[in-house]
Amino acid sequence: MYVVRGQCWDGATRCRHYHSTLDIVGLSFKCCPGFYWPCYECHTTVMPHDPVRYDTREESEVKCVLCGECKTQLTFSEYTATGSCPACNASFNPQCRAHYPLYFEMH
Ligand SMILES: [Zn+2]
Ligand SMILES: [Zn+2]
Ligand SMILES: [Zn+2]
Repeated sequence: MYVVRGQCWDGATRCRHYHSTLDIVGLSFKCCPGFYWPCYECHTTVMPHDPVRYDTREESEVKCVLCGECKTQLTFSEYTATGSCPACNASFNPQCRAHYPLYFEMH
């Protein structure tokens, strides 16, 4: 089970901070299991703590990305493998790559 929190604008996890047609993923932080956020700013708006990021090596099996289009939960490597959702083929925003360190502990 999961809950999407934050300042969502639509059912595909766009929010007031990031809302292009490609911004369709929700992201989960280790500090708040079970919650997906449209972006880190939504997390900061709601929660009184800094986000604790999942480690892409140590916690590579954790499903921490939500496809806002088909609601499939993905691991980081599933999310980043092809640039689109392995379940519904929706394209992810390639510019999110620059923001990975905000959401994941990278190596
Ligand atoms: Zn948190
Ligand atoms: Zn946001
Ligand atoms: Zn999908």
